[in-house]
Amino acid sequence: MTLSAVLFCALFAHCCTGREQNASKEKTEDNSVISVNSSDTRIPPGARALMVAYPHFIMGYKNNTLLLADGTELLYDDGREKSFEEKLNDADPEDMFAYIYKRTGEQPDYLQDAGRCRCEKLFRIMYGDSEAAVRQKLVQVEWFREKLLFTPINGAADSLRAVAQELKDYPTLQPYLKSGGSFNWRKVRGANRLSAHSYGMTIDIGVSQSDYWLWKNPGKRETDKIEYANRMPSELVKIFERHGFIWGGRWYHYDTMHFEFRPEILIYNSTSL
Ligand SMILES: [Zn+2]
Repeated sequence: MTLSAVLFCALFAHCCTGREQNASKEKTEDNSVISVNSSDTRIPPGARALMVAYPHFIMGYKNNTLLLADGTELLYDDGREKSFEEKLNDADPEDMFAYIYKRTGEQPDYLQDAGRCRCEKLFRIMYGDSEAAVRQKLVQVEWFREKLLFTPINGAADSLRAVAQELKDYPTLQPYLKSGGSFNWRKVRGANRLSAHSYGMTIDIGVSQSDYWLWKNPGKRETDKIEYANRMPSELVKIFERHGFIWGGRWYHYDTMHFEFRPEILIYNSTSL
């Protein structure tokens, strides 16, 4: 099943039984492990979204814990009250769903940065725990006249290829497609957390047609009120979203060149979970 088909199932249907069977990893020796089931309300919606989005890594949920394929038991909700910046810098899996990903053309609501919180431990387990570990798995993706390095893990590279294929039908979008970079193992400027570019599942495009919250609001802090700006066409954004990418232009702290493979955010903000 392609990712867009999976997203379609997760977003629009309750009857995707093949997917649910694939994703279910109920351990027979331990009946208290709850299997992946998009109608199972015993599992928090965010945990269900993660299981649907990353079935090769997240095999189950039990007692506030995500059960990972490598045996790791990852605490889902650490129970701590966190400020906006603490959620960014020290997100547990539950914090990744603290904000709504609003798919309208409007200015995002104050501090609504759905997807900017990333549980670093989970992403390091999935994509690699060091620059070398991420890099050794990367593959080339043909991106118009460029070749980009991207991770094949979780179907990210195939999803980017599907975006490129679809974009060929939109000649008016070509001026926005020049890459501004994909893989880049680095910390977020001024912070101690890794950038999403570190994991190889993120691409910046159309830098000269892009807007970034700090460019228009220099010197502002994360919790200050800021002005919004965007020049990216909505058709372009929708194509990426159809293939599992979230767009930085939907963040209050907007970064309109930034597209990040985060199917769990799109699934969570659908109606079926
Ligand atoms: Zn970026």
